[in-house]
Amino acid sequence: MAVIISGKEVSARVRSEVKAECEQLKSKGICPGLAVIIVGDDPASKVYVNNKKKACADVGFVSEEYALPAETTQEELLALVEKLNHRPEINGILCQLPLPKHLDEKAVINAISPMKDVDAFHPSNVGRIMIGDYHFLPCTPAGVMEMVHTAGIEVSGKNCVVIGRSNIVGKPMAMLLLHENGTVTICHSKTKNLKEICSNADILVAAVGKPKFVKGDMVKEGAVVLDVGINRDENGKLCGDVDFEEVEPKASYITPVPGGVGPMTIAMLMKNTLMAAKIQNNIE
Ligand code: NDP
Repeated sequence: MAVIISGKEVSARVRSEVKAECEQLKSKGICPGLAVIIVGDDPASKVYVNNKKKACADVGFVSEEYALPAETTQEELLALVEKLNHRPEINGILCQLPLPKHLDEKAVINAISPMKDVDAFHPSNVGRIMIGDYHFLPCTPAGVMEMVHTAGIEVSGKNCVVIGRSNIVGKPMAMLLLHENGTVTICHSKTKNLKEICSNADILVAAVGKPKFVKGDMVKEGAVVLDVGINRDENGKLCGDVDFEEVEPKASYITPVPGGVGPMTIAMLMKNTLMAAKIQNNIE
């Protein structure tokens, strides 16, 4: 039987800490502000943006939503980012991805001021993570690490395997484990002997995007299993990249889906926005 690391509980604690710090900032006349840009009407993106707005209200931040029509041009979008870059009361800017096909995501990410890039997607912030000298961490991998720390799991010297090499999850996840002295292997769709590599992991992170991809026979007895995936199973039910029923009896710790890594992502976004407000106001 594994210990289940509850993202609901850990994220609630992070959010209450952010809220307390926000109150302190407000007593100094500073109110953190987050601008969220959404282009088009993708229903999933709308849900994410609404959740971010609610989280801001909950911790005491000001949030501004810019809901732009799907036919918004690149120039219009970049002009909005530029305007927000110059507004001192806006400390964090994020553009909800994916963008409609005619827009250049890379150009938009590059246009956000690195000091306001609370998603930590800007190349300058990505580079800072590589050298271990960063202000912001990408929210999902940072959320996974927060859960690892809360559970008291030691990473140093452990054999860590990350399945997935995306820029927003897999690669930064591997880097954070490396910073904590894990011995890290990154797997992807061209990896040979995936099962064998995974079965040697002390800490296994699944960021594949395939429902119940990690089976019981891919996991070592006593492994820590961290499930980043958000998928729907054959019955339309929310599930992770890990087959929880099969893996949980073998793992020492496991994150569930739902209620695992998912709630951590927004909590870490709040933490990054608070950090941005502090840096921009020369606090700490
Ligand atoms: P991507 O689709 O960008 O990346 C998936 C990765 O998995 C790729 O590197 C791909 O390899 C690898 N992969 C695919 N198939 C296999 C396979 N058969 N064997 C080994 N590796 C494979 O997804 P993301 O990183 O954006 O997201 C991963 C999951 O995490 C998704 O379920 C997503 O919904 C979820 N997610 C959850 C978040 C949260 O808040 N909890 C936030 C962000 C994402 P290759 O590079 O070779 O194609």
